[in-house]
Amino acid sequence: MLKAFKYRLYPTQPQLRDLDRTLMLCRSLYNAALQERREAYRKAGKTVGFYEQKRYLPEIRTELPEYKGVHSQVLQNVIERVDRAFQGFFRRVKAGQKAGYPRFKGKGRYDSFTFPQAGTTGVKLQGGGKRVLLYGIGSVKVKLHRPLEGRLKTATVKREGEHWYIVFTCEVEPRPLPPNDQAIGIDLGTNPHFLVTSEGERVEAPRYFQKAQAKLAAAQRSLARKKRGSNRRKQARKRVAKLHRKIANQRRDFHHKLARKLVNHYGTIAHEDLNILGLARSRTAKGVLDAGWAQFLAILAYKAEEAGRRVIGVDPKHTSQDCPVCGHREKRPLWVREYTCPQCGTLLHRDVAAARNILARARTEPAGTWAAWAVP
Ligand SMILES: [Zn+2]
Repeated sequence: MLKAFKYRLYPTQPQLRDLDRTLMLCRSLYNAALQERREAYRKAGKTVGFYEQKRYLPEIRTELPEYKGVHSQVLQNVIERVDRAFQGFFRRVKAGQKAGYPRFKGKGRYDSFTFPQAGTTGVKLQGGGKRVLLYGIGSVKVKLHRPLEGRLKTATVKREGEHWYIVFTCEVEPRPLPPNDQAIGIDLGTNPHFLVTSEGERVEAPRYFQKAQAKLAAAQRSLARKKRGSNRRKQARKRVAKLHRKIANQRRDFHHKLARKLVNHYGTIAHEDLNILGLARSRTAKGVLDAGWAQFLAILAYKAEEAGRRVIGVDPKHTSQDCPVCGHREKRPLWVREYTCPQCGTLLHRDVAAARNILARARTEPAGTWAAWAVP
């Protein structure tokens, strides 16, 4: 299985320029490849494929010498990204979903490049892990705050605000935990609960996280008051971006700890399938993204797989309307949090009842069904 390791890079000034230039060249190539596909599609109704576009790369490197400073596989990966954008587009069209045509990447909207075979070419750790040699950039200082494990597969160099990072993905052996026949259902909560379990536990986002969000809101208001093009506005924008990153890190940390706890205690964890959830419930898509459930479920699925545990995503339809004891179905307004089942007289809390229904549904799924979530 693949595991990601993210480390901060400390490039020198000339290296910074080379990193920015590499991003710029990759972005131009991305947009050119996109343009070619769009035109082929519009004019002839035919599609230009990944391999067809890949074949032009040596030619590009001969005619535009600046591309020689970028590793050929990094350029191939750019073509692959265009390909993936199109495949995603066609998949959504086919599924009858709302599908935006793949878009050109503006400046600042293209912030990473990838060495797809970093284990063999383009990237090399040096000086006992204090530096990393990147093709076209040079030997860049890196801080490995935790050791790299497994067999190196890919490396992505990434800009986040003013900082640069490298994300290695490595093939690691799963480390199964002892078998555990405990099972739990989780209902992805509405404020202030992040989730509610079938055992009645309510998990809130940590306080420091809520505080940081209040700070961010204040910084955003302050930014809105600054004059366009002014230096103060620039400063305020930096502050907002910095807080955004801090919150994203805190959220990820919270997700990791919570997922770890669940995986350590339960052999089977059932949750609502988010792909269906958006349509089935009166929660907006934005609310789903804000709480970061997709990220949490991806981390949970990943940790479970590593530990040999099972995570199951179930159809969330009616989970908040059914009585988990007798199955009586009744639609209630969202604000009704506690009620007594009119059929069997059980006192129920809405979210706990939903979590218990989710667990009951998972029990009917065939063993070994994994919820398919990509690791972020
Ligand atoms: Zn009942």
